[in-house]
Amino acid sequence: MIHGKLYINGHWVDALSAATREILNPFDASVIATVAEGGRDDTRAAIQAARHAFDNGGWPQTPAAERGRLLFALADLIERDREEFARLESLDTGKTVEESRWDMDDIAGIFRYFAGLADKDGGEVIASPNPDSSSTLVREPVGVCGQISPWNYPLLQASWKMAPALAAGCTIVMKPSEITPLTTLKVTELAEEAGFPAGVINTVLGPGPEVGAELAESNDVDLISFTGGVATGKSIMRAAAGNVKKVALELGGKNPNIIFDDADLDLAVDYALNGVFFHAGQICSAGTRVMVQKGIHDRFVEALLARMKRIVVGDGFDEKTQMGPLISAQHQAKVEGYIEIAQQEGAQLLLGGKRPDDPALQNGYFYLPTLFTECKNDMRIVQEEVFGPVITIERFATEEEVIQRANDTIYGLSAGFWTQNADRIERMSKALRFGTVWANDFNVYFVQAPWGGYKQSGLGRELGKIGLEEYTEVKHIYRNYATKPFNWFGA
Ligand code: NAD
Repeated sequence: MIHGKLYINGHWVDALSAATREILNPFDASVIATVAEGGRDDTRAAIQAARHAFDNGGWPQTPAAERGRLLFALADLIERDREEFARLESLDTGKTVEESRWDMDDIAGIFRYFAGLADKDGGEVIASPNPDSSSTLVREPVGVCGQISPWNYPLLQASWKMAPALAAGCTIVMKPSEITPLTTLKVTELAEEAGFPAGVINTVLGPGPEVGAELAESNDVDLISFTGGVATGKSIMRAAAGNVKKVALELGGKNPNIIFDDADLDLAVDYALNGVFFHAGQICSAGTRVMVQKGIHDRFVEALLARMKRIVVGDGFDEKTQMGPLISAQHQAKVEGYIEIAQQEGAQLLLGGKRPDDPALQNGYFYLPTLFTECKNDMRIVQEEVFGPVITIERFATEEEVIQRANDTIYGLSAGFWTQNADRIERMSKALRFGTVWANDFNVYFVQAPWGGYKQSGLGRELGKIGLEEYTEVKHIYRNYATKPFNWFGA
């Protein structure tokens, strides 16, 4: 049994209220850990520690190469403890341990990428209208950052925030999802082992409306970076207005995966499965909205159905398992609600639509791979984020029609399409209004490429060089080296 505490100013502490929370394994609802449940007072203490480390502790003045060295050391420690991290992530989320191992490899790579970028920006000289002057742009760390992460990719999403913030010279208060804190706690322990100074990294566990809201509201926080649902993102934006702190939001998605008649059918089916059923569809970029051109529609549905029937649902620690449970009973109920709504709206249920019958899975939050056909643009099951193992299929006739319909959404995170026509690849890539567009692939992301959403899928970008810039302010330094009298107000 794990006993997790809060990490504030270099100390592991209980919550001031002494409250705790039990962490459940979604596979069987067993208790895997008891952790401190922080509140607003704990959060304020963590913010003050981060404030001090930024204002007086010397972290922004630490040479960028030294900040990079600490991040490289942390990456090495994550790699050293990869199996333990993967085990904790799978216990906490239910995802297969193989998926968790991929996540850990990604995470070590993310820390290395930003470690390497830390000392690469030497500023920029810009043209000045005065020939006897110099104008330079320098990037400086924003300050104290509140960072709030979700439960679906607990450590991956946390690392997208921690690594660039620390590389840039910011100090942080990290708040993982209250239901999946274990790997964020462990990475905090390793950051201590790597040698990050006290106060630079603080980790506070606890409920969003208290710990998260305090971070969003505090006048001592300079930037709030949030990954989670749209409704929470909007409340964070409102709270952040108090001191006009910078806001970075990675929100939900409803991501079209478009199959044209000339697609390679086998590949399109294979990637349609990858697009949805990893982590039981609990991925912001899941391609649950599948749009199929009428000439290939029936063959595609038949092939997809055959392969969906073979998906092995079960214990993430069993190597035969391909898909684990949903995260919680509450989330399972939400997915079930959408299945009812879809049927009332007239979508045709071809597969799934229920929990598995297997007696071994009855204590967990499982849901079967589910397929709906005959879906229409205006159905809620097509427009809203279900965040579960549910595919909806819409039929379309022309390229113009599918562009118009795919863009008809409040979201704009990612989209993919399948065609062998090179001109169409160009046209579609330009026409789709999403932050990431994949041609003949789906759900590919890597640390070099920025990630983020158009429209209500978010604000700003994570990863890539832009992901580092988000944690910096640009300062213009103008130096006049031959100042002459101006005499506007007389000599
Ligand atoms: P959520 O919005 O319920 O919670 C996310 C985090 O916000 C948690 O840590 C939670 O405690 C905190 N929170 C809740 N209420 C808060 C409040 N009032 N003030 C401040 N913080 C608060 O989201 P979730 O259910 O944990 O995650 C699923 C959502 O995350 C989905 O919509 C998914 O699409 C999105 N997501 C987006 C991306 C992306 O890159 N765009 C990545 C992963 C997940």
